[in-house]
This record gives sequence, structure tokens and C-alpha cells, in this order.
Amino acid sequence: MLNWENLIGHAATVAHLKKNIAEEKFPHAVIFSGEEGVGKRLAAEICAAALLCENPVDGSPCGKCENCHLVAAKTHPDFYVVEAEETKTAPNIKIGQIREMQAEAALIPINSARRVVIIDGAELMNNAAANCLLKTIEEPPSQTIFILLTASRSSLLMTIRSRCMTINFDKISAAQIRDALISQGVEAQEAERLAVIAGGSFGRALKLKDSDGVQIRETALDTLEKIARAEFTNEEIFKRGAEMGEWSREKFADFLNHVQKILRDICFAEVTELHNPDLAPRLNAIKISERKIFLMIEAGAEFHRRLKSNANLRLLAEAYLMTLRKISGGAHFGR
Ligand SMILES: [Zn+2]
Repeated sequence: MLNWENLIGHAATVAHLKKNIAEEKFPHAVIFSGEEGVGKRLAAEICAAALLCENPVDGSPCGKCENCHLVAAKTHPDFYVVEAEETKTAPNIKIGQIREMQAEAALIPINSARRVVIIDGAELMNNAAANCLLKTIEEPPSQTIFILLTASRSSLLMTIRSRCMTINFDKISAAQIRDALISQGVEAQEAERLAVIAGGSFGRALKLKDSDGVQIRETALDTLEKIARAEFTNEEIFKRGAEMGEWSREKFADFLNHVQKILRDICFAEVTELHNPDLAPRLNAIKISERKIFLMIEAGAEFHRRLKSNANLRLLAEAYLMTLRKISGGAHFGR
């Protein structure tokens, strides 16, 4: 059931949202901004339940009425969610989806006094979709509340940003993630490790728990170790490229993220807190100059952008590994 106790962290934000709901001051258009997996979607659904609930208590949904049940089951007639659709390349939200939503939003609510529309991944709207949404947000149907969720607020149209109130969802502390994992039955040592790697995102921690996330980090570290020791042969690169070509684009993005974080850890170990404190001894042993690390981080950002295009993943992975090796000190052919 949707209730605030299930949201991890964000105490001040939750208090603010509850107050707005209780005082009937919830904005007509709001942006929940924050990284993937910090709880924006859950918070938005709890808000929707509370806004549609027959007997909300201090900004919380009662959890007992028909409206609460229908929102939780995602079958409430006045509750509408727009989500990105998977495509061959990057997921996106199309103008057709926004038009469909608008047709619904224009109708009089059926069960409640208002409608709530969630747009999850608002930065994934293409230009046409964003401009179409803008018209609705400029003159919103009076009974409809829009909650836009985004991990990249700066990618939204300025005109959309300026018409929405923004609520920031910060990263969740490692301790809070660890405790939440333990309460879900994860063993303490594993919870500690996942919480560190998750980098403030509970969603990421769960994904790591269920997937080979720890293994991806190991692959990233191992790649950099080999590159620093000039052990990366062409053969090795093609072998890895072939393996990575079979990965999902999301998994390769995770790999890129891990490499970036490890590079930052190597470079800034003395001035900031490490992303990967458990790896400190191995990080210390990697000798790459600061200048080269900056170049590698730049290359990583560039490949992240290219990943969003239609590029063949195997070729992209090979090109990335070649680039890292080139920066580290030139090619080492065969062995
Ligand atoms: Zn209720």
C-alpha cells in the first residue's frame, strides 16, 4: 500500500509535501527532480493517493478507501501515468502519448475531485511531446495536477521548468540504504557493500542486489588495472568488445559509470570521500597521471552520449576501450 513510511530518506521533503497536501496547496504543476532510484516515483504515487483519497490524514493517504486501493492498483480512473516506451535505441516519450493523456485530462474527474497525472522520465519527451505538454501546463485543466519526474531537470524545456515548482530529491545516505536493505532481509555485510556502490540511489542498490552489478564494477576496475599496467592487447579488447556487445545498453551505461567513478576515486582520493572506499588498496595501486585521468573521464562522457545514439554496442565498446588505452600511453600490439 502507498504510504510515506515506505519511502526511504527525504524527511524534510516529505514533511513539505504532506503539508502542501493537507493545506490544499499542492501546486498544479510540479517537478520532482533527482537521480534515478532515489524514490521520486514512489513519492509521486503516494502524493497521488493522498490527493485522490476520500479521507486523507495530515497529507497521508488513508490506505483504506476505494480511491487509495485503486491508485495502488494503478486502476484509478483519475490517475494517469505517462512513461517512456522502449525503442530500439533510447527510450522516449512521444507526442502521441502526451495527446492521449491530454484527452483524458480534459475530462471531468470520475471518482475524485481532481485528476493526477505523473510523467515519469520527463526529460525523455522529444521536442514535439514537450511542446505539446507545455500548452497544457500553460493553461492546465483546473482539476488536474501534473507531477513531472526527472533525473535531468536541465534537459527539460526552460518554458516547462519555469511553469513548474521544483522539488529536489537528494541522494539517500549509504547508512539509510544499508538499513533499508537489511530490513528487506539482505545480509549485513552485503547490505553495507551494496549501499556503498549504489551511490545514494536505493533503486540502484536493489538493482545491484538482483543483478550482476557488483560484477560490472569488478569488470570496470579490472579494465582500468589492465590499462594502467599496459596489459591490454588488441585481442583482449576484441574479446571484451564481443562480450559487451551482448550486454543491454543499460548494463554498458552502468559499466561506463563505474569506470568514471573509479577514475574520480583514483584522482581525488586525497581530497574527497571515495565512491568506492572498499576498493582503496586496489585503487592506490593504479598509477595513471592526473592529466590522463581527466582525458579518460572526458572520453567516458563522450561515449555516454554516443550510447544514446544508434551506435552498434560492440563497436562502441571496442572504440571506448581503445580510446582508454590510447590515452594511457599508446597501443600495445599483440603478445
Ligand atoms: Zn484513502
